[in-house]
Amino acid sequence: MRCKRYLPPEQIETFLNKLPKETKQKILGFSVNGLPIHLVELGKGERKILMWSQMHGNESTTTKALFDLIPWLIDAEQEVFLDKFKFYIILQLNPDGAKAYTRANANQVDLNRDAIDLSQPESRVLRNLFDEIHPDYALNLHGQRTIYGAGSNGKVATLSFLAPSADSQRSITPARAEAMKAIVAMYESLQNEIPQGIGRYDDHFNPNCVGDSFTQAGVPTLLFEAGHFPNDYPREQVKKYVFKAYQALLHFLLMKEKNVTTAQYFKIPENKSDFVDLIVSQLNVKQEGIVYKNQQVAIQYIEVLNKDAVEFKPSLKAYGKELPFRAHRHVTVPANKTEVVLEFSENKIISNPYFSKLFSVK
Ligand SMILES: [Zn+2]
Repeated sequence: MRCKRYLPPEQIETFLNKLPKETKQKILGFSVNGLPIHLVELGKGERKILMWSQMHGNESTTTKALFDLIPWLIDAEQEVFLDKFKFYIILQLNPDGAKAYTRANANQVDLNRDAIDLSQPESRVLRNLFDEIHPDYALNLHGQRTIYGAGSNGKVATLSFLAPSADSQRSITPARAEAMKAIVAMYESLQNEIPQGIGRYDDHFNPNCVGDSFTQAGVPTLLFEAGHFPNDYPREQVKKYVFKAYQALLHFLLMKEKNVTTAQYFKIPENKSDFVDLIVSQLNVKQEGIVYKNQQVAIQYIEVLNKDAVEFKPSLKAYGKELPFRAHRHVTVPANKTEVVLEFSENKIISNPYFSKLFSVK
């Protein structure tokens, strides 16, 4: 399956060129490979909201949701948001990573572990803007793999949030408390749409992470993670939920009418990474010459960029009699096919048309 998870820098340029002429735009700086990092400024309100997406180049869903949010904000009906807030939006902080479909930048640095060193031009672009504008809220927009469940009893984490810690005691500082409450407001407003599908990230303090360092600097910071939804590998459905989360957040920040507490934040189930993409049962497996009968096989997809589309390559996670994973999809090999043997060599599936079809993304 080929899908449109790939969002290279040209698509940012195309989007920006289509915005109304009066929209304020500027280039904040350049990536390692010299690509521009664009900023869109919207609104004239007092409270400043800083948003940045694709700090990890291969996490495009929150950017696609910004493609929906920006026109929505510009629409006259939403005038109230532009009156009350001023938005600073970086659609793609890591254009080199976006182009290559990698998490890291062109120097193989994870920009979300560079908040102290600021060793990379992209990290400095973000920090300089942060220092210049002193935002009232910071939104750190990411995407997560399919492995996360919203707690042990929940479903797959379609969205996850974190109000990062500001110190190793994970204190609820005023900035962190504000972020927690905003997350609770989003969580509540999306409950009916994605029941049991929203998780909370581990809040272990890491000052190298941008969200932690911004919270430490006293700014309420919210980490968004666009996750998986059943059968939605292109993440088009997830994109809609992210957009709804943005809207819910803005309504909350505007009205503050919801009575929410930090205690509710801790009731959001914490992410658990025990999902695999596919479990195939009743399979005979051959590895290094030995055949293991009637096994379960766990398959995890690896995203590979092929020309201008992302493909999902099945890779072996584990096999055994009873695997300790939850799966997005279950398949049982039919009785007339149980003599087909799946062969592995060093965890690589030896290709076979029957299994290629069986394991592919549906
Ligand atoms: Zn990320």
